[in-house]
Amino acid sequence: MNQTQTKRVTVIAGDGVGPEVVNAARKIINATGIKLEWEDCEAGAEVFKKGFASGVPQDTIDSIHRNRVVLKGPLQTPVGFGEKSANVTLRKMFETYGNIRPVREMPNVPTPYVGQNVDVVVVRENVEDLYASIEHMQTPGVAQCLKLISHKGSEKIIRLAFEYARSQGRRLVHCASKANIMKLTEGLFKRVFEKVSPEYSDIEARHIIIDNCAHKLTMKPSDFDIIVTTNMNGDILSDLSSALVGGLGFAPSANIGNEVAMFEAVHGTAPDIAGQNIANPTALILSAVMMLQHIGEFEAASAIENALFVTMEEGKCLTGDVVGSKGATTDAFTGAVIDNLGKKSKHVPEREFKPMQLPDVSRHPVSVFPEKRSVIGADIFIEDDCTAGELGESLKALTVGMPLLLKMISNRGTQVFPLTDNLTDCVDHWRCRFLLDEKMTDEQADVVITDFLIRLRGKHHWMHVEKLPLIDGENGFTKAQGED
Ligand code: ATP
Repeated sequence: MNQTQTKRVTVIAGDGVGPEVVNAARKIINATGIKLEWEDCEAGAEVFKKGFASGVPQDTIDSIHRNRVVLKGPLQTPVGFGEKSANVTLRKMFETYGNIRPVREMPNVPTPYVGQNVDVVVVRENVEDLYASIEHMQTPGVAQCLKLISHKGSEKIIRLAFEYARSQGRRLVHCASKANIMKLTEGLFKRVFEKVSPEYSDIEARHIIIDNCAHKLTMKPSDFDIIVTTNMNGDILSDLSSALVGGLGFAPSANIGNEVAMFEAVHGTAPDIAGQNIANPTALILSAVMMLQHIGEFEAASAIENALFVTMEEGKCLTGDVVGSKGATTDAFTGAVIDNLGKKSKHVPEREFKPMQLPDVSRHPVSVFPEKRSVIGADIFIEDDCTAGELGESLKALTVGMPLLLKMISNRGTQVFPLTDNLTDCVDHWRCRFLLDEKMTDEQADVVITDFLIRLRGKHHWMHVEKLPLIDGENGFTKAQGED
């Protein structure tokens, strides 16, 4: 973005406390004197009530496409209007794949971590993983949610974390994953991290298992700088990290996409305190600081950050969520921050900010090009109320005369056929692994698998099939617990 040109930002005041906290941030930005034009747009409750099922009207969408930068308040989906949240619609519509959530110790906010200089950023993948919401009932009593992790999605978020680290003058990026258990999904995330991190040799890169990360983050948060992780892990970790610094009132966020960046507080509409001029605008002000850094207005960002911290250090004018019933109003707090513009805080680290380079990852859907791949069998998932032994013998009999071998059956991941001594408490959802017993083309494999499904008709009810790929000599599937 051209530094000298007046920049335009789409601003969505939102619902509940949204207008109060967004106006506070806007007033403070205006008071810095930078050239910024605000384009006011609507989304949320009133828009749903006007009959827009998404909660986001076309004018708002057009404005975001034009301006590419959004400062937004929380949005509400009123009961009885629309099924989808307008917040989610906006994130999906503009594919904001990266959710950046920094938390920092705030002066005069009582927490068990006072004095530990908590200053952590969680960079969460925001599109994939279990949150793709691809769910199916496998049997009436067994539900499944697909956990999708792509090389491309992982590369984008991991590069974003390193680029963010560079732009903020930060030195350490942890990748938090559950690669020890989910070797193909979380494992892919870890492998991409290991592949990409050497390109950022100025930044230290470490991997940590997610549960250990949660433990260490709670025990000694100052050991962390930036943590990049998958969607579900990030959801949990980022809420945990907000709690380290006093909760939602202090948690800003950025949703970053290839084209659009949206900045918002982590908290919701807080209807219990809306319209009373008592909301704490800090999270939204810090989101606005992130926005200013994103558009290259580093001086204004730093002035606001310092003024905010000075106001907190003075402790004279803090909102009710920090000091209780004698809290200052939102307006008074905002006025104090404006009065403190130009002052320096002891708590804001001196960093060298640079404009962030957005990751340049190919838009092509395919991002991995193996030399050799083939199908070596299939897992056929069967619903049945028989025993493992009965099912195994029946399936073996059905393979007679076909180039297929029943390798094993597992129940929720543990091998139960050939029979074992495991005390598995089975459910009516069986993964039956068949291997092709001769070499064949993928087309021939398709024919064999389809023929076998036809053989199952009337005997066993199958509900889904997964082919077993071999990719450059590596199994593209995991083994069951106990499988050789
Ligand atoms: P929503 O349904 O929009 O998520 P919610 O009330 O369920 O709203 P939050 O808005 O995140 O969830 O609020 C949770 C609690 O934190 C509420 O008691 C609220 O008053 C408080 N809270 C949230 N934001 C602020 C704020 N900016 N200042 C003070 N208190 C806040």
